[in-house]
Amino acid sequence: MLLAAKVACGKENETMGQGNGKSALVVGAGVAGLSAAIELVKAGWQVKILEASSRSGGRIWTDRSLGIPVDMGAAWLHGAGGGNPLVELFQKAGLGHFVSDSDNLALFQKGEEISDALYETLDEAYEEWMEEARSMKRRAKKGESMQSVLDEIPETGFVKKGLRWYFASDVEIELAADAEELSLKYWDEDEAFGGEEWIPRKGYGTLIDYLAQGLDIEFNAAVSSVAKTARGVLLRAGEKKYEADIAIITTSVGVLQSETIKFEHGLTDARRSALQRMKMGTMMKTVLEFPDSFWPEVHRMGLPAGGDPILEFWNLEPVHGKPVLVALCAGREARRLEKVSDRELQSVVMEHIRGMFGKTPEPRRMLRTRWHSSPLTRGAYSMIAAGSSLDDHAALGKADDDRIFFAGEACSEQYTSTVHGAILSGRQAARAARKA
Ligand SMILES: Cc1cc2nc3c(=O)[nH]c(=O)nc-3n(C[C@H](O)[C@H](O)[C@H](O)COP(=O)(O)OP(=O)(O)OC[C@H]3O[C@@H](n4cnc5c(N)ncnc54)[C@H](O)[C@@H]3O)c2cc1C
Repeated sequence: MLLAAKVACGKENETMGQGNGKSALVVGAGVAGLSAAIELVKAGWQVKILEASSRSGGRIWTDRSLGIPVDMGAAWLHGAGGGNPLVELFQKAGLGHFVSDSDNLALFQKGEEISDALYETLDEAYEEWMEEARSMKRRAKKGESMQSVLDEIPETGFVKKGLRWYFASDVEIELAADAEELSLKYWDEDEAFGGEEWIPRKGYGTLIDYLAQGLDIEFNAAVSSVAKTARGVLLRAGEKKYEADIAIITTSVGVLQSETIKFEHGLTDARRSALQRMKMGTMMKTVLEFPDSFWPEVHRMGLPAGGDPILEFWNLEPVHGKPVLVALCAGREARRLEKVSDRELQSVVMEHIRGMFGKTPEPRRMLRTRWHSSPLTRGAYSMIAAGSSLDDHAALGKADDDRIFFAGEACSEQYTSTVHGAILSGRQAARAARKA
């Protein structure tokens, strides 16, 4: 089947140029694919997006079954200060925002919040430890992991457990990986926008609806091969064939590593070797809705002495006015918990909640994620893995030639693993295709 000439007319595409006779196939309707398509449509290209699942958004997925928008994938805009392309999109798509504050935190021990003096001790000890971690980073060898830092955890007793919880929250859950998976040498090397952290009040799914308006997206089209022809590219999905001048591939690192898409011309050596070193992280969310809230009006909570899995709780009540908690965990424990039954998962999370608050009511409903087990993502987001570096992210994002382009969060050398990184990488791939 030849690429159908379809004209996109969504709001984000209002300034669409005249048809220029060029055509593109975009693999994946995540935020990178949508952003690439919009850029090309604006320049007058005919664009078709092929998406394996039955919805757009990919690792952005807003569940509305609890009567409020709960983001099961991306949930925060990281850095609303200058330069973040999401700030303008939040405004254009009417997402609204809640300013989320990770310092608005309550830690518990034996059913009670810890004392101010204990917070102070913890904060000081953590700052000192991280200072030492930064000097270890300066001396680190290429393949060395963040485990070296964890092995040097200072203190004893509850303070040690508190430091372990801070590290899990700030490093492992944030980067969706265990310390032993993460590069020490390249820790925190990617760039970040400054400013507030926002949660979209209407859910990130509203952004996807806004971006996808008017774009030609074919759902349930799992691309199995990408080939070059004399004139352009030929992609296959099931029994169907699609042709265009160029293709932009936006699937995750995990999907590329799984080789479910066959590149008939082979991957470039640089891309193949980067993929061997790169790694997908896993972060798991368990969402619990209660009849009423029994917790303080803070944003973030934790039980440092709760043992494994280490869980970080976020309170959705200030955002959406409903008694809903989201428990996050990462790495090996997240991969294990993806496989347990709903009943077992609920009991693991409730044990932490009872450790924080004593006797509590049972949750009314529970939602959970399985980003690692999903064949369409194979993890939550890419990490800078021990043995890898941002050069690998850059290599992944390089075009093969003037026909096959790559985009997605992991292709962003500066803003890897984020929504804004995925958007910028999609736009960049589209600009490269236009120039080719
Ligand atoms: C739990 C979790 C929490 C996160 N939290 C945040 C956060 O708070 N803030 C933030 O900035 N970022 C966060 N992220 C990261 C963010 O969601 C991603 O960086 C971003 O959404 C990736 O977009 P993408 O377009 O690169 O990839 P994807 O969204 O993965 O899009 C790729 C698309 O390709 C499709 N696909 C796969 N295989 C095929 C095939 N063979 N043929 C056709 N289509 C295929 C997939 O179905 C998918 O729709 C989080 C992610 C997760 C999972």
